[in-house]
Amino acid sequence: MAELKSGRIIKVAGPVVMAEGMMGARMYDVVRVGAENLIGEIVELRGEKASIQVYEDTVGIGPGEEVVNTGAPLSVELGPGLIESIYDGIQRPLDQLVEAQGEYIKRGSAIPGLRRETKWHFKPTVDNGSEVVAGDVVGEVQESTLVNHKIMVPAGAAGKVDGLKEGDYTVDEIIGGMTHADGSKTELKLMQKWPVRRPRLVKQRLNPNKVLITGQRVIDAFFPIARGGTACVPGPFGTGKTVVQHQLAKWVDADVVVYVGCGERGNEMTDVLREFPELIDPHSGEPLMKRVVLLANTSDMPVAAREASVYTGITIAEYYRDMGYSVALMADSTSRWAEAMREISTRLEEMPAEEGYPAYLGARIASFYERAGRVVCAGSPEREGSLSVIGAVSPPGGDLSDTVVQATLHVVKVFWSLQARLAQQRHFPAIDWLTSYSFYKQHLPDSFDDKQMGKEFSEMVQQAMTLLEQESQLIEIVRLVGAESISAQDRMALETSKSIREDFLHQNAFHKVDTFTPVEKQYELLKLILHFHQAGLTAIDNGIDTSEIFKLPVREDIARASYIDNNKTEQVIAIKESIDEQVKGLYEAVTS
Ligand code: ADP
Repeated sequence: MAELKSGRIIKVAGPVVMAEGMMGARMYDVVRVGAENLIGEIVELRGEKASIQVYEDTVGIGPGEEVVNTGAPLSVELGPGLIESIYDGIQRPLDQLVEAQGEYIKRGSAIPGLRRETKWHFKPTVDNGSEVVAGDVVGEVQESTLVNHKIMVPAGAAGKVDGLKEGDYTVDEIIGGMTHADGSKTELKLMQKWPVRRPRLVKQRLNPNKVLITGQRVIDAFFPIARGGTACVPGPFGTGKTVVQHQLAKWVDADVVVYVGCGERGNEMTDVLREFPELIDPHSGEPLMKRVVLLANTSDMPVAAREASVYTGITIAEYYRDMGYSVALMADSTSRWAEAMREISTRLEEMPAEEGYPAYLGARIASFYERAGRVVCAGSPEREGSLSVIGAVSPPGGDLSDTVVQATLHVVKVFWSLQARLAQQRHFPAIDWLTSYSFYKQHLPDSFDDKQMGKEFSEMVQQAMTLLEQESQLIEIVRLVGAESISAQDRMALETSKSIREDFLHQNAFHKVDTFTPVEKQYELLKLILHFHQAGLTAIDNGIDTSEIFKLPVREDIARASYIDNNKTEQVIAIKESIDEQVKGLYEAVTS
């Protein structure tokens, strides 16, 4: 490798600094810029001239100042202590920075990502003398009440373990070692490093063929995301984007959640910072943070840090996936990430493509979502992990033809389309059933323990979808020629669709029962609504007037069914009998 030389700044353009004399530099090397040691990354190289994106404010930095190359790519520290942390885009612990320096964080601060003083209790899971390779689990640390942290052999190492001993260690103390075939040795620590722009290694990629249950009915039943799948939720202001993200963070069937806030309006991110530590994990009753890693960039932080935050976040998420966990990453909002790319690109004087975004925008977005997946993890014991990625996008004015939305829709398999119209009608979650989609729908039956039930549920969802499509056409006809002009069967279809919308798709995030619905109960709720539909059609065939059917008191019971305790599904099932009885009552009234 060529010798690394320090360079000198020749130009400063906002977050981008140009330096000359950078002999031996490589793309993506991390550098320290100027007297204040600002952290930056080389993003363009021409001979010995380097363009550097700087993760901190460059005000006051000028030509002639020194640029020192660390010779290493931008990396994260991976080890116990990640959970419950709140980081900025380059893994600086925000809480510790604020503790040490107050609200205004000084430039050039270099507090490491993992606390050096904390002792963790390490228990080996392999015997000294055994042969191990990269990815093998050699022991564990109880990182939080909810996460058991697996200590894995770092990439590239293979050999015989020695000196592993149960005990209390800090992340950079030696917990044991490995002797390689050539006699050389590697020390093992609780911590390892990984360059953020490189996906972590896996043994095998698998098809995402199991649905990730979220307890949100419109998502699980109509537009499910798979374990290891990708989803996009474009959210115009006020449509419930934050509530959806919080609901997912709380209820999603994942062991670890990584939440990346890449620079929403300053105050929104502060909301996340304030709210998340107060959320309770509904499954365990523990604070939600016991299985969460938070990355936050407020809008007043430099754009380059936002650019880095999605990579830092996904690398941490991959690391927990490698332990064999189901991990969900939420990025809010990827529009801010794309805008950061645009700004850096402009400063580099690159040729702009659509809406001023760089031509590589689509490729960058694709390579980010491609890091999601269900995998067989590297190393033994044999284990499966998954990383599901949900990206919020905030197009200006909610316009779905926006470049970032379109580039995202090219790669993700699920689209939850939040509509301002639905939010105004207080229909929440405001996910539009007509324009949203999921390519994972066919895997829904496998999410049920009872496969027959899963298959039936899928068929019922299909039937419900057909009714909703029929509704949108019928509404148009009724608007043009009046309700009297449509058949009784069509009126029944309208009534049932209304019930599907109001009693199934609508879900109140703030009601203690309604906030989460297990899939088995989702099945019973939908079955109930469709049973009413069928009973109604039969009654119409027998000459009963639709107004009589719609007036039946059982309609109220159906409307309240989603609020019935989740472990009292038999009460939901019992409503079906009331439907039959009350419809029978109508027949008797006619024939008597
Ligand atoms: P955004 O982040 O898109 O600007 P929010 O997530 O803050 O919008 O949602 C706006 C408001 O909509 C919330 O304060 C809440 O009152 C309401 N809301 C959104 N989703 C739901 C839901 N699932 N159940 C009940 N109310 C909701």
